[in-house]
Amino acid sequence: MSYRVTVIPGDGTGPEITEVAIRVIEATGVKIHWEIAQAGVDAMANEGTPLPLSTLDSIRKNKVALKAPITTPIGVGFRSVNVAIRKDLDLFVCLRPCKTYNGVRSKYEDIDLVIVRENTEDLYVGVEYPQDSKESQEIIKLSNSKLREHSAISVKPISVFATERVVRYAFEYALKYNRKKVTAVTKANIMKCTDGLFYETARRVAKDYDGKIEYEERLIDNMCMQLVQKPELYDVIVLPNLYGDILSDLCAGLVGGLGVAPGANLGKGIAVFEAVHGSAPKYKGLNKVNPTALILSAKLMLEYLGEIDAASRLERAVSNVIMEKKCVTYDLGGTAGTKEMGQAIIEKL
Ligand code: NAD
Repeated sequence: MSYRVTVIPGDGTGPEITEVAIRVIEATGVKIHWEIAQAGVDAMANEGTPLPLSTLDSIRKNKVALKAPITTPIGVGFRSVNVAIRKDLDLFVCLRPCKTYNGVRSKYEDIDLVIVRENTEDLYVGVEYPQDSKESQEIIKLSNSKLREHSAISVKPISVFATERVVRYAFEYALKYNRKKVTAVTKANIMKCTDGLFYETARRVAKDYDGKIEYEERLIDNMCMQLVQKPELYDVIVLPNLYGDILSDLCAGLVGGLGVAPGANLGKGIAVFEAVHGSAPKYKGLNKVNPTALILSAKLMLEYLGEIDAASRLERAVSNVIMEKKCVTYDLGGTAGTKEMGQAIIEKL
């Protein structure tokens, strides 16, 4: 069987890790026809848009994509292409498994957590009103002096629809992968309307899994401390977008850093696999960064395609290379380059 997959090489260090990841995936023996699509800074320069329609069409057509990181200019310039892809394709789940591999530099052992982050709403919808705009002034008036004059305002929407489908995904994932518990995380003691609705909806969904999967709740601040002190207490964690974004990086830190943290953005019958890390532009062209996070994202992609054997062989090969420590990148305490680490993984397959 052969698959068609869209590949977005991204920018910064994206193209180097993509090249290596493709070589590693091909070495598993799984046949993939790669359809290359552009997005990010280079697409902006060449096509006048950071997210060409042809790129979205390619993902819609192939239903599966492997995406390298894309740089987002801070404060000015275009909005995040990553957020736009998730929104346009309605990729409502951001899945981030966090697992310790022997040999990775980490203060923790045996961590095996899964973050399920809501991907389409919360403060990431981009409904923002600048300081002194007509809209922000109206909202300030409506707030009965709770808001300070001349504030800029970002809107945080949470809906039953989006919460229900992401929480259900978390429970279904727990069932499928033999997990025991789902923890919902918010700051509902302060944001009673929005985060309160997230909890209310999560509790309702949890009832459908009563007796099969345990359900509990934590506040985000407490959760950060708990994860640093007792990460072994947690299993599948489901959160609204912003908390999920932050906690994903925290959990990546628990298991050895961004270089080894994979991810997937999932919608209905459509999936984009990408590392948690960004484009690390300062290392661009240096053959220095760790390709593992994108390779482990590709392992999630192989699982998604039903190539379970290739996925397990790939994970074992990555794990062995990391454990041996002979050919690993700087972040894992080695001196190997991106390409050399990729080659070492291929040799273990
Ligand atoms: P980053 O993840 O690119 O890099 C932060 C630091 O982490 C790097 O300087 C490096 O020290 C380390 N690091 C990251 N990836 C690594 C790897 N594979 N191997 C070894 N070390 C690695 O985060 P940033 O500097 O905040 O963001 C850079 C750009 O990437 C920004 O424009 C940001 O918006 C974008 N970004 C994109 C995505 C995405 O495309 N999904 C995700 C996050 C950030």
